[in-house]
Amino acid sequence: MTPPIWLPYESVGSERQSHVNGTTIELVRREVGKLLRVDSRGEFICSSCLKRIIGERSGTAYTKGQIERALEAVFKSPGALTRKYSFVCDRYGNTMACLGVPDVRF
Ligand SMILES: [Zn+2]
Repeated sequence: MTPPIWLPYESVGSERQSHVNGTTIELVRREVGKLLRVDSRGEFICSSCLKRIIGERSGTAYTKGQIERALEAVFKSPGALTRKYSFVCDRYGNTMACLGVPDVRF
């Protein structure tokens, strides 16, 4: 295993610890969108599963706290994603707020 490496663009901003900047939110939002549109198309996934999945995908780029805060922001303003306040998560079957993209073709 290679040791954790901070990507260059990560160190551009001075704020890295618990504070989440707009860039982190946008990158997490993009990952969530890609996941829900491509890899888990038609699935609705709760925030705790998203946190785990995004954490696995982004490796050491973000801390759990950063992903958590970024996801909170994405849930608050989901944009093109569909938010359900109380829905059965397709991953674990727990009923929570979930995000997804309805499987509709345009
Ligand atoms: Zn879940």
